[in-house]
Amino acid sequence: MSLRFCQGPECHMHKTKDRIKGMKGSKTYQTRRRSNFYYGNGNFCSTWCQDQWLTKHIEQALDHFGRTTKAKHLTKENAWTKDYNWIDYRNDTREYFYVNGITKEQRPLTKAQFDDINYTLNER
Ligand SMILES: [Zn+2]
Repeated sequence: MSLRFCQGPECHMHKTKDRIKGMKGSKTYQTRRRSNFYYGNGNFCSTWCQDQWLTKHIEQALDHFGRTTKAKHLTKENAWTKDYNWIDYRNDTREYFYVNGITKEQRPLTKAQFDDINYTLNER
């Protein structure tokens, strides 16, 4: 398993004991490195680091991916959200489905469809 660095631009400036690394006599505070992080899709060691990154890059990110410039409207064509019911908690067995937030209609989903972030019934 490879180690990844926290993407927080100022992670190394947060003085905690676990960030002190290096040879005796030349130890420095360094960016955290782990097999996995809990925040920001596994990219940040803390919400502090995630927020530092967001503060630094939010304008570029919005310009790049596109800003919301007019109100979006919730209609039955775009009100589908994914959900599941437990069938058997101990064996992690679930029943996946789409539910429409306007009409309350439900449609079954496979686990693969549930996990696929690009799979949607919503009109874009
Ligand atoms: Zn960090």
